[in-house]
Amino acid sequence: MSDQRPLKVLLLSAEVVPFAKTGGLADVAGSLPKALHALGHDIRVAMPRYGRIDPDKFGLKEVLAAFPVPMDKQMEEASIMEGALAPGIPVYFIENGKYYDRDGIYMYPDDAERFIFFCRASLEMLKRMDWRPDVIHCNDWHTAIIPNWLKTVYKEDAFFANTASLYTIHNLAYQGIFGYRVLEVAGIAEYGFMYHAEMADLSEVVDFMARGIFFADAINTVSEKYAQEILTPEFGEKLDPLLRDRRDRLFGILNGIDTDVMNPATDKHIVQQFDVESLDKRVANKLELQREANLHEDAAAPLIGIISRLADQKGFDILGDVTDHLLDLGLQFVLLGTGDPHYHEMFSRIAQAYPGRAAVFLTFNAELAQKIYAGTDMFLMPSRFEPCGLGQMIAMRYGSVPIVRATGGLADTVKDFDPRTGEGNGFSFAHYDRWALFATIVRALENFKYRDTWRKLQVRGMGADFSWSASALKYVDLYYRAIAACGKGTKLEDYGVAKK
Ligand code: ADP
Repeated sequence: MSDQRPLKVLLLSAEVVPFAKTGGLADVAGSLPKALHALGHDIRVAMPRYGRIDPDKFGLKEVLAAFPVPMDKQMEEASIMEGALAPGIPVYFIENGKYYDRDGIYMYPDDAERFIFFCRASLEMLKRMDWRPDVIHCNDWHTAIIPNWLKTVYKEDAFFANTASLYTIHNLAYQGIFGYRVLEVAGIAEYGFMYHAEMADLSEVVDFMARGIFFADAINTVSEKYAQEILTPEFGEKLDPLLRDRRDRLFGILNGIDTDVMNPATDKHIVQQFDVESLDKRVANKLELQREANLHEDAAAPLIGIISRLADQKGFDILGDVTDHLLDLGLQFVLLGTGDPHYHEMFSRIAQAYPGRAAVFLTFNAELAQKIYAGTDMFLMPSRFEPCGLGQMIAMRYGSVPIVRATGGLADTVKDFDPRTGEGNGFSFAHYDRWALFATIVRALENFKYRDTWRKLQVRGMGADFSWSASALKYVDLYYRAIAACGKGTKLEDYGVAKK
């Protein structure tokens, strides 16, 4: 670790694999800590103990009995259960039946209160445990209030005097926007709304995302391309003026994937394990997937997969416009996803219209996901915007060739195949347009006919390094930067930042 001292970091996330997941945030929160721990840092994780997280299954033990947590003008009680991501990486579960004993993770009318409580209880927990992190690593709007508190209600609190904050934006589209009342709940009403000359809305609503961006000592998002894109009105989700003000502390760090879990050579969910040396075995997974999905069993038919939240961001409107034309080309299609009812209807219609050729699973199913990564020939992500995207990386690791729109992390990880030079690892298009998507899939299908070409694409994808090793080091640098920017009596040279 060169001359830098090990850091103490608390990472907070609303979802963490393997305890609760709806999307990529959970993957990151479950895998980045392992890479940081391997680098010698004391990284710990906090999340709510949702009702669906079974304490027995995960061996959770109570480590702090009920203690008071300020909420509005009253006190609510939290207790803490402890589990682990891996040996040496504790996960603290914030326990409160009123807020978390429900079926789901999000989408409740009191979500603002639920996540304010999670954050406040986490800070109070640290004091009770007497564990002072150098950095609190906040992720997405659910935890964005913490940088705000560190600069207000906890400003004079000696316990947090040397605690810096990093705020990671996993998706700018989900900002957590609420009314004035949440300022009272969070105990910051005396400071009022935010003001920004170019963003009048901020003076009328509480936008948690904006507060994270405004108050954090360092900010990042999950790919370099998206970090640039969000500075523009097209991708800035109305916060681009604020992001431009803070661009000196805004960085892009590409997500990694957990290459131990996402490993076709050891994956227990697929019928046939394989690696780059035994790619011929992979076809057994395709045939099994075709059986399970009621598709015609045909090793030669090109099979395209999608695994996704069904949200407007993901580009399904342009896909819907061309699916009939695509299925007429003789390909097969399997989708696993859940979300917007409008897309549930759209994909159900497609499945009914093309029995044996289109299969649709409108649920969340982590095991089936692995079978789709391992059994499809191509993996489609035509996203309108994509902060990082993990699906394309997992697909490549499993030998499924990505077809993507070149935006955000998709642009940073998938390079369009050029048959003249042989360069590239997938297929991509720039303009968000149905015919650009259609033409790109046709290109992929044409290349699929050439076995050697296709094999090279698969091998290149499987050989790429999508692990956390490079990105975890970048997070460590960013933690030091946050500490330096936090400045509360911290000398840069104590942390090795000044030497960089
Ligand atoms: P996002 O974070 O926007 O949802 P990402 O591509 O970053 O998109 O991450 C999505 C993650 O969630 C991937 O690990 C993907 O395999 C998984 N996933 C998405 N939908 C489902 C589903 N219905 N069933 C199982 N896994 C899913």
